[in-house]
Amino acid sequence: MRKIADQWLRDLLGLLYQRRSATRGEITQSTGLNPASVSHSLRYLTQNGTILKVGELESNGGRRREVIKLNEDAAYFVAVDLEGTRIRFAFTNFVGEIRYRWEEDIELGVPLDVRRVVHGIQTVLGNLTPSQRSRVVAIGVSCAGIISKSSQVTAVNLGWQKFPLLAELGKRIDIPIFLEHAHRTCIQAERWLGCAQNSNNCVYIMAGNGIGASIYADGRPLGGRDQMAGELGHIVIDPNASDRCNCGKLGCLEAIASSPNIWRQYAEKMGRPVRHMLGSKVIEVFERARRKDPVALAVLERAAEALGSALACLINLTNPDLIILGGDLVKGEDVLLDRIVEHLKRRTLPDFLEGLQIRVSSLGPDIGIMGAASLAVRSALLDSKLLRKVCSPVLNSLHGAGRPQTSHRKGSPRAKMARV
Ligand SMILES: [Zn+2]
Repeated sequence: MRKIADQWLRDLLGLLYQRRSATRGEITQSTGLNPASVSHSLRYLTQNGTILKVGELESNGGRRREVIKLNEDAAYFVAVDLEGTRIRFAFTNFVGEIRYRWEEDIELGVPLDVRRVVHGIQTVLGNLTPSQRSRVVAIGVSCAGIISKSSQVTAVNLGWQKFPLLAELGKRIDIPIFLEHAHRTCIQAERWLGCAQNSNNCVYIMAGNGIGASIYADGRPLGGRDQMAGELGHIVIDPNASDRCNCGKLGCLEAIASSPNIWRQYAEKMGRPVRHMLGSKVIEVFERARRKDPVALAVLERAAEALGSALACLINLTNPDLIILGGDLVKGEDVLLDRIVEHLKRRTLPDFLEGLQIRVSSLGPDIGIMGAASLAVRSALLDSKLLRKVCSPVLNSLHGAGRPQTSHRKGSPRAKMARV
């Protein structure tokens, strides 16, 4: 058999992962591969069961065209989202569908015991049949905070200071693990599975407990020297402000417009005690604003102005065609978004606004685990050994295995989690 280049398989499978399905002509056109390489690769992947022919479309000339998609059971992945207030685990198939999930609340700022992460992964793996377990290709971990080049994590919310996460997980789990900053996994999820599939210049804004930007410029993620680009939350928006940020400075965007700080300002103005900074309480401020509570409206106006100013800087610097808003603040879209856009427009160069779209994330609260899953898929396709595992022959018994997603929190009986 003629040798099949890894890059052909990579391009073809990557395209099908993004598009869900494609015809042979579309594959040839989009990958830029020559038709013979596409035919050869398709034959190999069909024989092995990695891809399936799902139907035929009637073409204009009367000739029928095959529609091709990934076999969802050709490869499985485990996704872990360490987002700061919860840890979430998911078992996903090759097309990014979540078969089931598991999540636990964590206490903000208290050092997270890595054994809880290991236990979550092992719980996912422990519920698979041996044949399913044999096709688990990789684990993707999305993590908030700062990740050094040697994969040490510093994250205030997780209570970690230069914690060697990847090394600690690697000691206990025998499946390849890939780690990426939450900002980046989110924009990658939007590019692979969400609303940024056709954009090469886009920005994902995670606005919740913290505020960060993940920037795609000219089709590439912008990382910077230490892969830390996009710390939007620590731009000093109001140097005269008395709002103290987690980083120690006064007047950072995050100190004014993150979800816990929106709630803090509201509570302070109402003379209520602020003992715990809980981002989830921001919902109350949104509800009050919907009822035209002037204090809530004033706090949101200040947050919107701060966010609008920061986004205007970002637009002037990076000239994106798409901005995607995600995180807790999206829950207040109806009382916040128009105000943000108004302030943003006032401060942005007019030419930069032409053709610029501002959208709310299409992936919702699952974006962290979807991002971690797509990290695992992307990383597996780039690794020749893992790529060959993805493309290894699939047993028929695996076809169609598994149920649509089920959800479990800690404390659910283990038996209920079984049989994915
Ligand atoms: Zn700061």
